[in-house]
Amino acid sequence: MIIGAGGVGRVTAHKCAQFPDVFQEIVLASRSIPKCRQIKEEIKEKTGRDIEIAQVDADNVPELVALIKKIKPDLVANIALPYQDLTIMEACLQAGVDYIDTANYEPKDVAHFEYRQQWAYDERFRKKGLMAVLGCGFDPGVSNIFCAYAQKHIFDEINYVDILDCNAGNHGKQFATNFNPEINLREVTQVVRHWSNGRWIETPAVMDINSVHFSFDYPDVGPKESYLLYHEELESLVKNIKGLKRIRFWMTFSENYLTHLRVMQNIGITRIDEVDYEGKKVVPIKFLKALLPDPATLGTNYTGKTVIGNIMTGVKNGKTKSVYIYNVCDHAESFKEVGAQAVSYTAGVPPVIGAMLMMKKSWKGAGVFNVEQLDPDPFMDALKDYGLPWKQVEYKGKLP
Ligand code: NDP
Repeated sequence: MIIGAGGVGRVTAHKCAQFPDVFQEIVLASRSIPKCRQIKEEIKEKTGRDIEIAQVDADNVPELVALIKKIKPDLVANIALPYQDLTIMEACLQAGVDYIDTANYEPKDVAHFEYRQQWAYDERFRKKGLMAVLGCGFDPGVSNIFCAYAQKHIFDEINYVDILDCNAGNHGKQFATNFNPEINLREVTQVVRHWSNGRWIETPAVMDINSVHFSFDYPDVGPKESYLLYHEELESLVKNIKGLKRIRFWMTFSENYLTHLRVMQNIGITRIDEVDYEGKKVVPIKFLKALLPDPATLGTNYTGKTVIGNIMTGVKNGKTKSVYIYNVCDHAESFKEVGAQAVSYTAGVPPVIGAMLMMKKSWKGAGVFNVEQLDPDPFMDALKDYGLPWKQVEYKGKLP
C-alpha cells in the first residue's frame, strides 16, 4: 500500500506495477482521489495492470488504521509528506504492518527535521516484531546504501564522505522546485551544518553571500557550482559509519534559483508562521506553494540529467584511497517511462527496492532501521534492474 500520490508517489506506483511477481496487489491511497485516479489510468495504459485506489487523510491515525486493516497490505510505503511520518508509523504499529518512507519527520510549525521522534518508535516496533525502514529515497536512501556498501566491500574504515547532488536539468520555468515546494524551501533556507571531528559545524544558508560552495566537475554534465547544505542522512550516517572524520552534503543551485530564493526570503514569502491577511490567517509558504508550478507537472519538457553520488575516502590494508559511486538519471527518459522527471524518479524507485527486499525477507528485523544498517548487496544489485544503474570509479580529484 502506497500513501501519497504526488510526484514521487506516482513513480513508486508505476515502478511497483512493473514488477507483478513481487507486487501482486497495489493500493494507492492519498488525500485527493483525482490524482490517484489519474495514476491508476496511466498504469493501466502502460502496463495493463489494475491497481486499487483509496482516499485517506494520513494526519488521522484512526482513519489510517481502518484503511490498513481493511486492505491488509504486507507493507505500507509512506510517500506522502514528512509531516505524516509519525501518524503513519503509529497506524502501522496499531494495524500490525511493516513501514518504509523516504524523508524524516518534520513538524509543520518548525522548519526542522531530525530522526529523534522516529527512532523513539524503535522499542514499540521491536516488541511487535515489525520492521520500519527510514529514509529510503535517493538522498537519503541510496546515498546511505553507497556508504554501507563501501564500508562492507571497499574500505577497512571510511574517513571522509562527500555526498554530491547535481540536477543539471532544465524545466523551462523561471522558478520551480523539483519536489514539494514547501518541503524543498524549508530545507534550502536553513542554516547549513556538516560534521567534522565529532562535532557539527554551522555555516551560512545557501543563499547567503558567505555560503560555502565550489565548482565540481560532474560526470556526463560537467562543472556545476555546488553548495554545502545540511541533509538528513548526515544524522544517521555519523552514528553508523565506522571511523568517520568528516561528512558533508553538497547540492547544485543555479544563480537564477538563488536570486529567486534571496528575494522570496527577503520579502518574507517563505515564512512558515501564520500572518493576518484581511482578517484571514495565511501561511506565506503555503500560499507560495499554490502559486508555484506543481513539481509533478514539470516532467513534460524537462531535459538534462541528475547526477547524485558519494565520494568516499578511507583506508584499505593500510593504504588511503578515494572512490566515487554515482548514478546518472535522464529527465526525458524518466518522463517517457513513468510520466515524471528524474528528481521524482530517483526518489520514487528506491522505496520500491526497499519494499521488495522487505517483502522477500532479504531485509528483515524488528525495530526501526536506517538503510545503512541493512545489507547493501541485494539493494545495489536491484538498483540496476529497477532503473537506477550506478558506476564506481577511483576518484583522483581534490575536494575543498
Ligand atoms: P508532493 O507534494 O508532490 O506529493 C505529496 C503527496 O502526499 C500528495 O499526493 C498529497 O496529497 C499527499 N498528502 C499530503 N498530505 C496528506 C495527508 N494528510 N493525507 C494523505 N495524503 C497526503 O510531494 P513529492 O511527491 O514531491 O514528495 C513526496 C515525499 O518524497 C516527501 O516526503 C519528500 O520529502 C520525499 N522526497 C524524498 C527524496 C529522497 O531522495 N529521499 C527526494 C524528493 C522527495 P494532495 O495531492 O492532496 O496534496
